[in-house]
Amino acid sequence: MSDIPSIPDAGTDPLLTPVQYVPTVGPQRALLLGNLEIRTARDLLFHIPTGVNDFTDVREVPQLQPDVEQSVHGRVVDRDGRQLSGGRTLVAILLNCRGHFVRGLWFNQPWMLKRFRDDEHVVFSGKPQRKMGRWEFSNPKVYSLSDDDDIDAAAGVFPKYPLTEGINIEQMRRMTRSVVDQFADLVPDPLPEAFRERLDLPRLSTALQWLHCPDSAKHFEAARNRVLLDDLLEFQLGMALRRRVWNRSFKAFPIKVSQKVDARIRRLFDFRLTQGQDAAVNEIVSDLNGTQPMHRLLQADVGAGKTAVAVYAMLAAVAAGYQTVLMAPTEVLATQHWDTIDELLSESRVNRGLLIGGLPVARKKQLVDAISSGEAQLLVGTQALIQESVKFNRLALAIIDEQHRFGVRQRAGFSGYETQPHVLVMTATPIPRSLCLTRFGDLDVSTIRELPPGRQKVVTTRISVEAQQARMWDFVRRQIGVGRQAYVVCPRVEGQTEDDLNAVETVYQQLAHHELSGLRLGLLHGRMDRDERHRVMDQFRCEEINVLISTTVIEVGVNVPNATVMVIQQAERFGLAQLHQLRGRICRGSFQGYCFLLSTADSPEAIDRLAALEQSSDGFVIAEKDAELRGPGDVLGVRQSGSLPLRVANPVRDFVILQKARLIAQEMVQSGEFDLPEFRALKAIVLDRFAHVLDLPQTG
Ligand code: ADP
Ligand code: MG
Repeated sequence: MSDIPSIPDAGTDPLLTPVQYVPTVGPQRALLLGNLEIRTARDLLFHIPTGVNDFTDVREVPQLQPDVEQSVHGRVVDRDGRQLSGGRTLVAILLNCRGHFVRGLWFNQPWMLKRFRDDEHVVFSGKPQRKMGRWEFSNPKVYSLSDDDDIDAAAGVFPKYPLTEGINIEQMRRMTRSVVDQFADLVPDPLPEAFRERLDLPRLSTALQWLHCPDSAKHFEAARNRVLLDDLLEFQLGMALRRRVWNRSFKAFPIKVSQKVDARIRRLFDFRLTQGQDAAVNEIVSDLNGTQPMHRLLQADVGAGKTAVAVYAMLAAVAAGYQTVLMAPTEVLATQHWDTIDELLSESRVNRGLLIGGLPVARKKQLVDAISSGEAQLLVGTQALIQESVKFNRLALAIIDEQHRFGVRQRAGFSGYETQPHVLVMTATPIPRSLCLTRFGDLDVSTIRELPPGRQKVVTTRISVEAQQARMWDFVRRQIGVGRQAYVVCPRVEGQTEDDLNAVETVYQQLAHHELSGLRLGLLHGRMDRDERHRVMDQFRCEEINVLISTTVIEVGVNVPNATVMVIQQAERFGLAQLHQLRGRICRGSFQGYCFLLSTADSPEAIDRLAALEQSSDGFVIAEKDAELRGPGDVLGVRQSGSLPLRVANPVRDFVILQKARLIAQEMVQSGEFDLPEFRALKAIVLDRFAHVLDLPQTG
């Protein structure tokens, strides 16, 4: 691992000994360990177990108690695999434990049958139950004993590790035991003793010992907690330092919002803000009031009404005599925001403009001049263009709408201004709190969870067999018959083969000649030129087209309340968040929306993911599920390892520790404790790991 803290004298640091020289490793295994990014003794020490098998409480069968974690050992006397109704499977393994018979059961894990040999000596570990006079372990942990293993030696707590081809668990355990023997005591502890005692943390060298050679599950947990906390604490300290630097170096214009201004802004909307919108507005108003630049993320599900919140903040800035800007990633989105805002302000004198590419040169110059003179008060445009061509006069608030591309930019990028604008980043992709803290650890977060009243939920159905498809297309035709419109979304523009269903063109041809013949169909994809795309979208908007067959270009920028049906081809090929986003297109109006997920994929993961969409319409619930199924790196779009700022912790799995680390870090930095000499070693590690990533000055 490259991001291990640097150690003063690397040349002679024994912890950097190449792993091949660790006793029991050797050159051959060292090569294989390379697959796990283990290159030095230190890397091996920090190869953290995923958990333990706890075989401490091995009992004789007559001593077993129901529903308590215990183990038994015995020989395999019968192996049985069965098909149950509904496609489920059951594997049952019978053990003879010194004359008493005990059964282990596994549902839907047919491969467990092959896991056992007849007469094999194994340990079952779990919470047994007594069923019809016999003890059963449902889904027990299993540990194989070799013939000469004696059960007392086998009893104990055994770490489990991520492995690689060619290294089995026994070999890994031998190597980690050996590296602990030789090197654990040499690992310095960056946390001062008093601090450790306050948080009840073991010494680092002790923790490494307990991780790899645990004497109890309890010690193992304490050790694991220590190592994960270190990782998360260092990261959160980096975040807290960045915030401190940011707060000390930049000042913003304070924006006061009087009751009168508040009432005037609210009168513009023909609805009352929801509770969630109100809460977000309050948080923003309180930030704007100060001279420290606001740095806030506003996240809400699609359709929750972020625009109203954004508009509120912008008008507050204008009322206080400043300039404000709303920036979107694309021209379509910028134009859409502009249309909304311009209409809301039709009766108002707010001096405003839309800055996008393709403006006549004279108009653009006029706008740019009005911005730099301060005459233009409210601006909407694409982020790229605004940052390139505009110099503001009194910019107090910048709003960045990132839509689904969250995490791409956190900085508004207004360098060269003496006073920094308050920044509000809006994202339409709900992000689990754990990932928010990872990716946006130094942003404050406002979350709108509920939708405005009266919103219909989209009925979502997975279609997995041919026969259902015909009925589905009938349904689509009937919806169109009563005046509605539909989307058909395909994963890719071009297929590998001619009859590849993914190809949007092929789907278009197929539907035009068969399922949807006689209806007016439109085709839309990213390879079409801009004018053509706009024309098709306009036709769809004014109902000249009944069904739009498209790639995911419709994900952003299309808002057609009359469209109520969406058919998603090969749904398993989309991410969960993306499917939810797509589905958000058909709950725009007052009609009931229907989403069909076509998928013949039968992997448990694909079925799980699509089931999550069928069951929930809450973007936050779906986001949690997504993070759990795919892992944080994939969700954040930083697939390459190393882009995630963490070494061993997983923010989703270790969320509780993450929150704790965050509180401790904030408290340490705010109170100044972190600047005390006893934290010098820790600070060096934090800067070494994060100064670069977080844009921190090396001196802290
Ligand atoms: P998003 O959060 O996806 O950007 P929008 O701001 O586009 O959502 O709002 C979606 C729709 O909901 C808009 O038509 C908007 O006028 C409407 N809306 C927003 N807030 C409310 C509210 N409090 N009550 C009723 N309708 C609202
Ligand atoms: Mg929006």
